[in-house]
Amino acid sequence: MHIINECSIIIYLVEFCVGRNMQIEIGQHKGKTIMTLVLKEPSYIQWILEQSNATGDLLKIRNEVGRLLEIFDSKPILSKCCGRQCKNKSVKFTGYVGNPFLIYEWCDECDPYDAGASFGRLVEMNNYQQALNYVEFYCGGSKKSCKEVIRHMALAKGLPKISRKAEVEKFFTT
Ligand SMILES: [Zn+2]
Repeated sequence: MHIINECSIIIYLVEFCVGRNMQIEIGQHKGKTIMTLVLKEPSYIQWILEQSNATGDLLKIRNEVGRLLEIFDSKPILSKCCGRQCKNKSVKFTGYVGNPFLIYEWCDECDPYDAGASFGRLVEMNNYQQALNYVEFYCGGSKKSCKEVIRHMALAKGLPKISRKAEVEKFFTT
């Protein structure tokens, strides 16, 4: 097996199951669970999602990532809508073109442009994959930017600011 990039080391992994919380046993993310990687290493998750011909352990991991992303996407956004004096539930996020540090939540009635956003500068995101796409196509695709956007989404969906293995597991199981 040739090393095609830094992520391909995952091909050599042997996964280890603790209940349904699968853990990486070899490579740069040794000892981390897939749940933790989904929340904290989204660039790595993006690479896994791109492996459409995955087999064996990598396929198992890819399937587990798919399961966790469904949970992530189905969790409600707890932060309130950013519309002026709006009390509706938030259902989507927006990010600015070129700036992954200003992510906002919106209900499905408020128009972010009415709330003061510069016209044509916002990208709407409804799920994890769209967040990865936003970073890749509009924010240069860096690991740091991916982390920033997914972290914002996870916090808005109830992940505590300081989250270790237990909090991460709770995020995906409640
Ligand atoms: Zn609103």
